[in-house]
Amino acid sequence: MKVLVSDALSKEGLEILEREKKLAVDVKTKLPPTELKSIIGDYQGIIVRSATKLTADIIKEAKNLKVIGRAGVGLDNVDVRQATKQGIIVMNSPGGNTISTAEHTMSMMLALSRNIPQASASLKRNEWDRKKFIGMEVYGKTLGVIGLGRIGSEVAKRSLAFGMTVIAYDPYSSVEKAEELNVSLVELNDLLKRADYITIHVPLTGETRHLIGEKQFKLMKKGARIMNCARGGLIDEAALLGALKSGKIGGAALDVFEKEPPKDNPLLKLDNVIFTPHLGASTEEAQVNVAVDICKQMVDALLDRGIKNSVNIPALSGEVLKNIQPYITLAEKMGSFQIQLIKRHPREVKIKYSGDVTAYDLTPITTALIKGLLEPILPGMVNYVNAPLIARERGIKVVESKSSVNADFTTLISVEIETDKLKSAISGTLFGKKEPRIVLLDGYYVDAVPSGYMVITSNEDKPGIIGQIGTLLGENNINIAGMTFGRKKKQGQAVSVINVDSVVPDKILEKIRSLKYINSAKLVKL
Ligand code: NAD
Repeated sequence: MKVLVSDALSKEGLEILEREKKLAVDVKTKLPPTELKSIIGDYQGIIVRSATKLTADIIKEAKNLKVIGRAGVGLDNVDVRQATKQGIIVMNSPGGNTISTAEHTMSMMLALSRNIPQASASLKRNEWDRKKFIGMEVYGKTLGVIGLGRIGSEVAKRSLAFGMTVIAYDPYSSVEKAEELNVSLVELNDLLKRADYITIHVPLTGETRHLIGEKQFKLMKKGARIMNCARGGLIDEAALLGALKSGKIGGAALDVFEKEPPKDNPLLKLDNVIFTPHLGASTEEAQVNVAVDICKQMVDALLDRGIKNSVNIPALSGEVLKNIQPYITLAEKMGSFQIQLIKRHPREVKIKYSGDVTAYDLTPITTALIKGLLEPILPGMVNYVNAPLIARERGIKVVESKSSVNADFTTLISVEIETDKLKSAISGTLFGKKEPRIVLLDGYYVDAVPSGYMVITSNEDKPGIIGQIGTLLGENNINIAGMTFGRKKKQGQAVSVINVDSVVPDKILEKIRSLKYINSAKLVKL
């Protein structure tokens, strides 16, 4: 079998490929697209970094290709859809840069505390100013970690070794995991009020964009310091500028920016902010790690020893896939819908299949549901292969059961999720054998199309409620695409699911929540 390495890869990775007698390896970097197109048909495997662009046009010529491997995480340069169409496995190698980024965060925290970049720059100007750069110990201080995933956990461990108290906010983390790390899980506002240092390690999603803004800075201790080595956009930079200028916070360390490079960013002019140009993962070791990981994965996949970190659907035969694809789509949407409603760590997920669906192998459907559940929390990290493993690692118990009959529906997938605080149950079915529908929501019968933006309210069953919501949405130019309501008895409690054509901003959701008879309103995006 032949493997093409089309971008520069560390020698430690190449050695893994070359050791395999069954593989012939060609390293050809900087190939013009036309040349790549003309030779790609000869290969069973290709490894890229970010320079090679595997467009649909090129992939179409890859008649023998089985595996595409990306050394690193981002797959913007690979047309995954086209690869999936052709049954080609696409895999990436996340995780190789965890330690590098955690160490970078530690460097930033210490440099910020002791004014190292500023002092170094001053000395280079031939100054000898010792008073100006009096610092602060991190020992005995409280660190607030936002996002207790791979990097957040490593930062927590290292900070504990420095004698800090570590608290964390991660609604999707299990209490057991935090306890193992010696970290207390707290709510975000509590963390903001208590921490001397705050560090952010969450992905950038609709939910986390501007997670730290004006309101959050107001809650912080005066003089608190904040670090962001995750993604630009997690901190509202305009609010950060205000908090730094007013002296509300004592300093910031930024590796990432809302716009990169951050040309003319007013933050660059402040003395109490230190910067690096997105260097979190830029170490020799991280480059080696991602290369070693992807080469091992490539060997295993080509030699049928197992598939790891595949981002597209695992190979199911065409006929099987055709039959179960609608259930896979339904299950994935249900998982995503439910986690966006509960927004907490799911301790236990009970999935009950009944009716027609039970004729099929349920494993890929359960996997799709778990993938859907994890995707909003770990975007880009979860796939159909690793979803069950990630769920296990995160302490999520998945229990599957089936019953061949269902009195009300020809097929029903019911999911009950238990968190430390609540239970949530939904059921879904296929309408006309293909169209996903949510038909039960916490005991209320509904008929909701799980697609696009959805506003879900819990309300009292009173006249005029829908009119009020409709007027509010209409006044804000948000078009309603569909509505469904469910109630158990007249004038009792009810739920409404409203499909809308565009995002409903937070301030409008707030207004919906404040309407008479509305108990809660949430936005879900599928
Ligand atoms: P991870 O997936 O292991 O952890 C992310 C954690 O965030 C998870 O535990 C998840 O439960 C939590 N989370 C999700 N939504 C949340 C929310 N709304 N509130 C609080 N917690 C939430 O990811 P990781 O590998 O630790 O990476 C963390 C971040 O670092 C990502 O944004 C990643 O892109 C970034 N990163 C940056 C660099 C760099 O060069 N600076 C390098 C690697 C990773």
